[in-house]
Amino acid sequence: MKITNFIGGEFVAPASSAYIDDYEPATGKVIAEIPDSDARDVDAAVSAARKAFISWSRTSAADRSELLLRLADLVEQNLEELARLESRDSGKTVTLARRLDIPRAAANFRFFATAILHQSTEAHTTDAGALNYTLRQPLGVAGLISPWNLPLYLLSWKIAPAIASGNTCVAKPSELTPLTANRLAELAVKAGIPPGVINIVHGYGAKAGEAITTHPHVPAISFTGGTVTGARVAASAAPLFKKLSLELGGKNPNVIFADADLEQAVTTSIQSSFANQGEICLCGSRIFVERSAYASFVEKFVTAIKRLRIGDPSDESTDVGALISEAHLQKVAGYIDLARREGGTVETGGNRINRPGWFLEPAVITGLGCDCRVLQEEIFGPVVTITPFDTEDEAIAFANSTRYGLSATLWTRDLQRAHRVAAAIDAGTVWINCWMLRDLRVPFGGMRESGVGREGGFESLNFFTEAKNVCVKL
Ligand code: NAP
Repeated sequence: MKITNFIGGEFVAPASSAYIDDYEPATGKVIAEIPDSDARDVDAAVSAARKAFISWSRTSAADRSELLLRLADLVEQNLEELARLESRDSGKTVTLARRLDIPRAAANFRFFATAILHQSTEAHTTDAGALNYTLRQPLGVAGLISPWNLPLYLLSWKIAPAIASGNTCVAKPSELTPLTANRLAELAVKAGIPPGVINIVHGYGAKAGEAITTHPHVPAISFTGGTVTGARVAASAAPLFKKLSLELGGKNPNVIFADADLEQAVTTSIQSSFANQGEICLCGSRIFVERSAYASFVEKFVTAIKRLRIGDPSDESTDVGALISEAHLQKVAGYIDLARREGGTVETGGNRINRPGWFLEPAVITGLGCDCRVLQEEIFGPVVTITPFDTEDEAIAFANSTRYGLSATLWTRDLQRAHRVAAAIDAGTVWINCWMLRDLRVPFGGMRESGVGREGGFESLNFFTEAKNVCVKL
């Protein structure tokens, strides 16, 4: 299978005529070739997007909404095909893609299709002398860059608010997971989204991605990916005074107090640790358990992990699929070795599965302090640490001991403590007695090195529009 870029409503080969191999994580085999795009392709996409902006930005909100709803319907109608494609391309289980990724992509289009109908702006009278009102206007061409872990989910989370609010866009999916973005382009044509409103350029970040972040006619960049790449994106976009949203890495704490419903905490912590092989930015990779419950939690948690079925992601009974690439597997395995060198104990897992593809047993590590590299650096794989704590203050200090601040999970039945600790933890999202529950209206994003800006609901619509103040003398 050879895929192409999607520019101005056409499927076109890259200017270089060069292609990149796209591997299937479960087999290690090449399943597709994707364009190795460069600045020329990005330039063509930006030109098409600028041209389309003229009429798209003047299309009524009701008409834009209608088209986005049609796209949402098409994503839903093709759910099974998209879920299988996503699973094949990313190594995630088809059950997760079917339950989470693809429904969420449809929900993103549906949510912003309707949110745009309810966006309002404010007016202020300055005593009796003047009337000020805020005009919200689309920015132009939005540059959208997304990672491989939730390919369609995160791409649609950017495309939907960008185009709902009247912008056109140039999107670059991760070169590791291009297939559902390509299928989305086909569905966008079918939905009747005008040519040039959505443009998709495939290829490497350092080449195609950077051509977007440095393009003078792309005034806004919405980026989701790692913190190191985010810093680079910021460095290239900031001198051009672009609007910038950065959703970056995490090292999320999962704090379990002894009064928690331990069974529920164990069940959900299995999910929050190993869903999508731990390759979700919101996974809780550092578990802290109050000392009196520590031994019991570790025993129940490790026992439950040993029951997880690792293997073919297309098998309905598989719990843990393949990691995204050989290089990523080596990185994750390297952290398990590091944990041993740092004095930790691998309670279970950590071994590569003896079959083709990139499979690693979920690993649980104990015996490490918060200052160890394994508890400081984002691993982004099926590896969690468990550390005991003695007091609430210590739990908060442990939770806040990294440079990240994306999300946190708390388990306790003490209502006051739950609110107190939630307020004290530096994280953009805090879940109490749950994980990954998302209302699309709430602001989403990270603190510290986990990101800048917020996405979600009207935050996204505001990001993709300029607020202009108009002052009329009365
Ligand atoms: P990544 O390496 O930072 O890449 C993200 C995207 O940026 C990819 O499309 C990548 O292209 C592109 N890119 C790379 N260098 C670039 C450059 N110089 N200029 C412009 N674009 C560039 O991240 P990843 O490995 O794909 O994803 C995993 C990371 O994403 C983890 O750190 C995870 O925590 C984070 N994440 C955060 C959130 C959140 O909401 N905060 C959500 C999901 C994931 P390539 O295809 O060449 O890599």
